[in-house]
Amino acid sequence: MHFPPWKLLTARHLRPRKALGQNFLIDPSTAEMIIRKSGVSRNAPVVEIGAGLGALTLPLADAAKVVYAIEKDGALAGILEYELNRQGIRNVVLKRQDIFETDLAAIAAGQERRLRIFGNLPYYISSQVLIYLIGAREVVEQADLMFQKEVARRLIAGPGTKSYSRLSVMLQYYTEIRRTATVGAHLFWPSPKVDSEVLQFHFKTAPSPVLRDHALFAAVVKTAFGRRRKTLLNAMLSTELGIGREELINIFRAAGIDPRRRAESLTVEAFVRLANTIDAYGGKNGSKPPAPVR
Ligand code: SAM
Repeated sequence: MHFPPWKLLTARHLRPRKALGQNFLIDPSTAEMIIRKSGVSRNAPVVEIGAGLGALTLPLADAAKVVYAIEKDGALAGILEYELNRQGIRNVVLKRQDIFETDLAAIAAGQERRLRIFGNLPYYISSQVLIYLIGAREVVEQADLMFQKEVARRLIAGPGTKSYSRLSVMLQYYTEIRRTATVGAHLFWPSPKVDSEVLQFHFKTAPSPVLRDHALFAAVVKTAFGRRRKTLLNAMLSTELGIGREELINIFRAAGIDPRRRAESLTVEAFVRLANTIDAYGGKNGSKPPAPVR
């Protein structure tokens, strides 16, 4: 790390912006540990979400082929750019932009390998970032991301627990998740209220069981957890799925799922079965011709 973040900011009369979730990592050995545990190799293309002042960017530049460092805050990006130039680091492409306006497929198009994603994620966008990465799953190999502890817990939760959520189901279907480290709140400035956790997501090349319609699966999971206190039948009635009661009852029967159950009791495989059966019965609003369920 070049200088402590408080020195870099106060020298420019700046302060950390809470609205952008700015809690800077101040421990170089934690950054090194995250990178080491990621197993990133010298020929890997990396995208870093929220580069900030470069706590991860600089060691990543040392470990990878190229780092696309995305930072929304222009003032921070300016400080980082100065430091990259000062150190003569040439393999960092700094992009002053929002991660949600960053075309990951376009970045990956020029690379020989799928992307490695890193980030000490701002709390306020952590869920959206994961949905975004699932959308870009074809070009992502692995993501090593830091979250507030309770967010991480929700992502790895299993069925039958209160923390099991829409994101747990989506992520566990598309990725293999590993917890790699806990990072104490005192290792950030300003120090957040809770510790952080690093999770490693390996994007599966062939998730199983096979889904017939990925968008329909996303809609079913969203609908079921959107009304998680209701039975699945009631949760899925009068929603954007547009399927009537009789047909839904038939679908649940064909899928072998009791419609009185609640979303939080269904395994990922059961959600896939439900989505595939809805698809076989014509999909959303009965818009598809019926097809046999495999
Ligand atoms: N990586 C740095 C570190 O570990 O010290 C900074 C981490 S800080 C928790 C999150 C960073 O994400 C901040 O620099 C913030 O400005 C940036 N950020 C917030 N929202 C963003 C967005 N939508 N797109 C890109 N960067 C964003």
